[in-house]
Amino acid sequence: MFKPDLCDLCGDCLVECQWIDIERDQAIASFKAMIDGQETPILKQCITCYACNEICPEKANPFDLIAELQEKYRVFLDEETARIEEAKYVFAGELEGLPRSERVMTTCVFAKTDASLLQGELYDLPRVGGKPYYCWVLFSHWGAESIQRKHARDLVDRLSLTGASEIVCFHDDCYAMLATLAPEYGIEVPFRPVHLSEYIVEYLTRNKDRIKPLDLKIAYQRPCSSRHTPEKEHYIDELFELTGVTRVCRTHDREKALCCASIKLLLGNGDPVPDQEKNIIDARESGAQAMACLCPMCIHNLSPVAQKHGMPLIFLSDIARMALGEIQSPLS
Ligand code: SF4
Ligand code: SF4
Repeated sequence: MFKPDLCDLCGDCLVECQWIDIERDQAIASFKAMIDGQETPILKQCITCYACNEICPEKANPFDLIAELQEKYRVFLDEETARIEEAKYVFAGELEGLPRSERVMTTCVFAKTDASLLQGELYDLPRVGGKPYYCWVLFSHWGAESIQRKHARDLVDRLSLTGASEIVCFHDDCYAMLATLAPEYGIEVPFRPVHLSEYIVEYLTRNKDRIKPLDLKIAYQRPCSSRHTPEKEHYIDELFELTGVTRVCRTHDREKALCCASIKLLLGNGDPVPDQEKNIIDARESGAQAMACLCPMCIHNLSPVAQKHGMPLIFLSDIARMALGEIQSPLS
């Protein structure tokens, strides 16, 4: 939720935005207009990367204001289309095969679409996934944030039925929903959400004697939803360190990360390829032998450009699997 009382109208959120070219005076005027509820060109130019929520020095959540106005002015999806898209994801049946365990992993919608990413000993734990456990975070990319909010409680309630005290989130979006968004919506989350990187670090630490350091230089592709949960970022560094991988220092990582940009296509907001090239070339010029992705969607969306530039993409947990000797490095 946007916190107008914290905003001092510094303009940083728009000036630092990597997708909108704007001078500070105009940024301040535009942001003020949006605080007053007005429609501005920013609403259409914004690609919903969430970065400004992390950038804002006052923690005022400027993206939440932008998202509210994108929906109010129906900048992306009209009401009818939003309803049709919502209906595609609503689950109305009975939950089946509910595991009862202290720790359960939620795989969102990826167990079917990206089964190859969920292989091996790391994923040998009770799991739930599919439509009932969809996290709805896509809808704030679509200018329909109220749909994301509307279904948040269902997700929390269904996961609670497992009785788990910890829910490990395969998808960064699910973690963002459970760790940040649902509590912001006033929903009590009765279990501890565990980020995939935290889970892997814990697993690797328990199996430290089996790790063979990989001695690789890898760039990290930070997904958009990580902007909601920067406090867990240190686990990514720890995972790299434990596996003997150097996270290359590059322009577009951490606060300056570029999202996979594919949302531009979804929003009819221009060609994502030049941005994807900028990202991959940045990784290459920083000495990376490969790029590690946390979000399966980043792998899908960056693949054509990464291939063109000879940059292998590796799913984050595959780094751990390589270090544990479970799979071969694609670079060996
Ligand atoms: S939301 Fe934050 S970054 Fe944006 S103008 Fe207000 S204080 Fe500055
Ligand atoms: S969400 Fe991303 S694209 Fe939109 S204004 Fe904020 S930083 Fe810019």
